[in-house]
Amino acid sequence: MEIVVIPVTPFAQNCSLIWDASTMKGAFVDPGGETEKLIATASKHNVEIEKVILTHGHLDHVGGTVAIAAHYEVPVIGPHVGDKFWLDALMQQSQMFGFPPAQPFTPQTWLNGNDTITLGSLTLEVLHCPGHTPGHVALVERSSNKVIVGDIIFAGSIGRTDFPQGNHQQLIDSITQKIMVLPGDMTIYPGHGPTTTVAKEKASNPYVSGRFG
Ligand SMILES: [Zn+2]
Ligand SMILES: [Zn+2]
Repeated sequence: MEIVVIPVTPFAQNCSLIWDASTMKGAFVDPGGETEKLIATASKHNVEIEKVILTHGHLDHVGGTVAIAAHYEVPVIGPHVGDKFWLDALMQQSQMFGFPPAQPFTPQTWLNGNDTITLGSLTLEVLHCPGHTPGHVALVERSSNKVIVGDIIFAGSIGRTDFPQGNHQQLIDSITQKIMVLPGDMTIYPGHGPTTTVAKEKASNPYVSGRFG
């Protein structure tokens, strides 16, 4: 799986342009905004966009979804239905964060844990990782040893859990039981900040190594 990370929105949210090099079929994961920049990047890499995939329902991750899906006439896949209340509240989210108004939408497909998403010759495995939001998912691609984690875990930190239906213990359980069991050399692509690896976070992330209890 090829991946180009494109930071968008005032929150520097990492939208991922992903594709299968053998077929050039690809998708945007978390198109939070700045859709013209996203479209230009896909054109530059000659990627044929066939899906929009969402890790969770927060505005900085989904704000450009309706525009991107309409531009390419492609379906929206994910997140898990547990985040429906966030997508339904997109107008309120845009007011709260001072973003341009974002229309609520319903994805064509809600995701569940252990689902798979096909992209050309690639298979993405879905991990349901509640805690930051109840419907948060991560996407694992084994052949390239990559996982896209949204706001579950960051280099040296973890997602906030002070939003409605956030749950700190649930987030820790998701990280330790679903992300930290992936191969140590797997590259982690967080929704904000730099990439990292499973082994690096196991060794140095204070929330994961238990140094902060
Ligand atoms: Zn978030
Ligand atoms: Zn975020």
